[in-house]
Amino acid sequence: MPKKNLEVQLISIPDNLLDVIYTACRTCYSADGAIEIYDNITNDTDKKLALISKVISSGHYSTIEHIQVTFAINNISRAATHQLVRHRHMSFSQKSQRYVKEKGEFDFVVPPAIEANKSLYNKFLKHMELTASLYQDFIQNGIKGEDARSILPNATTSSLVVSLNLRELIHLANLRLCTRAQLEIRLAVKKMCTLIEEKEPWLKSHLVPKCGRLGYCDEDKSCGRMKTKNG
Ligand SMILES: Cc1cc2nc3c(=O)[nH]c(=O)nc-3n(C[C@H](O)[C@H](O)[C@H](O)COP(=O)(O)OP(=O)(O)OC[C@H]3O[C@@H](n4cnc5c(N)ncnc54)[C@H](O)[C@@H]3O)c2cc1C
Repeated sequence: MPKKNLEVQLISIPDNLLDVIYTACRTCYSADGAIEIYDNITNDTDKKLALISKVISSGHYSTIEHIQVTFAINNISRAATHQLVRHRHMSFSQKSQRYVKEKGEFDFVVPPAIEANKSLYNKFLKHMELTASLYQDFIQNGIKGEDARSILPNATTSSLVVSLNLRELIHLANLRLCTRAQLEIRLAVKKMCTLIEEKEPWLKSHLVPKCGRLGYCDEDKSCGRMKTKNG
């Protein structure tokens, strides 16, 4: 059965991430030039982290825009990628449904709420089966992939390479780790954040839902993690 589970891999992050951010921070407030600051950088990680935390906490986010990270993502639904590509400061390269024809039965993602209901899950699988058969019918009768894809569901899996800077990653986490975000994109962004935190644990306090940054929930109703502004 071509049901698939999400996979996320961190494929690029700078080795000298702290040095770059520290240089950016110090350049703003030092009489020395940026080159001298970078060439004579301290080996004291705590000192670097103390300045970086102070600068980020004061909202001076341009200093972390210099750090670009890249992820490879497999088995994510088109429904979730459509939400991901709404973020305008990210770069994407996504599997084409025009040039890549689905082979046989296409792969798809099943929302856990549907999988938990046996009867609805069976109907879901039946729908996928019928759609796969119709899709193959179209392809075998000379319909191009770009037109045959019209009948593929939002659940169809996709694959993409995603790059973004640390400022945008924090923004993405603030919006998409919120329980108001759809479960699949929430899980994808959580995996992205966890992979970054494994390399750079100091970022953990920033890669949080927006209530963690604001100190309150700005939605109409709170999930309970934080109170709304009016309690
Ligand atoms: C829970 C949830 C529900 C949603 N529901 C819907 C929905 O029903 N319908 C829908 O259409 N979308 C919906 N969205 C998508 C949402 O409206 C945004 O398009 C998406 O979250 C990207 O956010 P963004 O614009 O802040 O981020 P990005 O595009 O990543 O931009 C980051 C920041 O850059 C700045 N920026 C970027 N571009 C501009 C610009 N052109 N002008 C000024 N400032 C800019 C803004 O400060 C912005 O916050 C939803 C999102 C969430 C999280």
